Amino acid sequence: MKIIDGKKIATEVKNEIAKKVQERMKAGQRVPHLAAIIVGDDGASKTYIGSIERSCREVGFTSSIYQYSATITEKELLDSIDFLNRDDEVDGYIIQLPLPKHINKENVIAHVDPNKDVDCFHPINSGKLFLGEACFLPATPYGTIELMRRSGISAAGKHCVVLGRSNIVSKPLAMLLAEKSDTGNATVTICHSRTPNLKEVCATADILLVAIGQPEMITADYVKQGATVIDIGIHRIPDSSEKGYRICGDVKYDEVASKCAAITPVPGGVGPMTMTCLMLNTLHACENKD
Ligand code: NDP
Repeated sequence: MKIIDGKKIATEVKNEIAKKVQERMKAGQRVPHLAAIIVGDDGASKTYIGSIERSCREVGFTSSIYQYSATITEKELLDSIDFLNRDDEVDGYIIQLPLPKHINKENVIAHVDPNKDVDCFHPINSGKLFLGEACFLPATPYGTIELMRRSGISAAGKHCVVLGRSNIVSKPLAMLLAEKSDTGNATVTICHSRTPNLKEVCATADILLVAIGQPEMITADYVKQGATVIDIGIHRIPDSSEKGYRICGDVKYDEVASKCAAITPVPGGVGPMTMTCLMLNTLHACENKD
């Protein structure tokens, strides 16, 4: 059984990005600049800001964080987006979701310049992805595909079962796996909370990709002997350890791993690839402007 080391692969990708940034600097070109709009100041926002700033520092990008209180009006938020759209020094930016209830998420996303939409939330980029045209790829599906590619796991000709149908993770992931491309050519089944016989469908998968937001729901009986399991879920579960919690995924790793040909651990699997692929998108956004 092979444990897919997302941490190691994410470090490799970050080193490649950092090298390209160094080359840009030597050639007198601009360094990529990622901005982030964060609304509200809960613990999750602070962690996210920290990881964006740290990742940008690691690869040599400029970063700027626009943090607003949860009482910001929609008009003020749209003005802030207009400002980033006009700023030639900013290559890409993200808007942390979810937004407060009084702000219309669709209006906000539609306001983002598609050329700076490094999260691939804008309908133009989602449409391009659906059509198989070149575009930014959403960071988690991009990270998952890149992790598989760099681990030598080919989806071509395989039956991939994607568990989940969210717009930011599972639907784009399913599209990429089905795409006529080097990393695609799979036969893809999408499952969700209304799928009957879920266990039986999952047990037909050569590659099972799980993004359901249900801690350790996927037990050994969901998995075919010799399958590859990619666990995208991430959860913090309270326990009696010194830290007071442990991190786990949607898959019950201890009982599933022994049945698999390959599996991603949580933490240290898909998670580190997500932020890394946001960096890759920002590099591409910068290169697109050259
Ligand atoms: P969503 O909550 O948006 O989507 C969950 C999907 O899973 C839905 O389609 C839902 O079905 C389906 N689902 C939920 N419960 C069940 C069930 N019991 N049986 C079958 N299907 C079920 O989540 P996201 O896609 O945003 O995220 C999924 C997971 O991935 C989460 O754990 C999240 O934390 C993690 N994540 C990890 C990232 C990383 O970097 N590693 C980044 C982003 C997310 P239905 O549509 O019918 O409700």
